[in-house]
Amino acid sequence: MRKPDIFDEIIQCLKREASVGADASMSEETLHDLYARPQRAPAPSAAPAVSPVQSGTAPRTVRAPQPRQPSAVPAYAPDLPEWESLRTECASCMKCPLGKTRTHMVFADGNPRAELMFIGEGPGADEDASGIPFVGRAGELLSRMIAAMTFDRATETCIANIVKCRPPGNRNPSDEEAAACMPYLKRQIAMVHPKVIVLLGAVPLLYLFNLKGIMKLRGRWLDYDGIRVMPTYHPAFLLRNPPAKKDAWADLQAVMAEFGRKPVPRR
Ligand code: SF4
Ligand code: URA
Repeated sequence: MRKPDIFDEIIQCLKREASVGADASMSEETLHDLYARPQRAPAPSAAPAVSPVQSGTAPRTVRAPQPRQPSAVPAYAPDLPEWESLRTECASCMKCPLGKTRTHMVFADGNPRAELMFIGEGPGADEDASGIPFVGRAGELLSRMIAAMTFDRATETCIANIVKCRPPGNRNPSDEEAAACMPYLKRQIAMVHPKVIVLLGAVPLLYLFNLKGIMKLRGRWLDYDGIRVMPTYHPAFLLRNPPAKKDAWADLQAVMAEFGRKPVPRR
């Protein structure tokens, strides 16, 4: 059995708060992590909308992971024609050698009208088999990270990768493969036009920004065509390095602040 982590504890606490509406207990360590200042993330440039839930004097009410304020999220529209025609285009793409070895092209998951987008590296074995990004062990962790952020993965996020076909043996995509595939991702970003993009690990940081050094750059806001971008660790790295989950959580909290969301009230 997997050992519960910081994200499990946050999710459990959110569930308890949502079901009983009472104070839910959380370990001192997790509380500390929840309210630790994101270490290197500067304050958001635009003041996020603060609802009464977030103000210091408000009653201790907590948002359940879902649903979100109807006004804050566009209706889920899986039938965007441009999105679907790009998917069809990618499904038959042979612009790089990964096309020959793939089982399924992995286009995206979630809602193309989401305000929060996650970008990973490329499909692994589970994603190649299913055609859906982030469904393996790293994907399960990403789902928990998203739930701890109080977002619904299916309706409130859009998830994509630098390359849409699996690099054999789970190696990183080559420069040529990334260059061949990136125009699709750029078109996806333009269509989704999210409020915030979270980059998962070194690969999207390298190919979207030509920057190296995820260890140094995580937690620092970047800008991509006017979209705020937060680089953080890849969930596969977090599985191998559980203590780094604390830093990733600090990065995700900075993202939550952009949306005026907090996971649990400080007490
Ligand atoms: Fe085409 Fe991208 Fe697949 Fe390469 S990885 S074949 S560019 S869809
Ligand atoms: N890792 C990634 O970067 N992307 C996936 O879709 C799955 C695992």
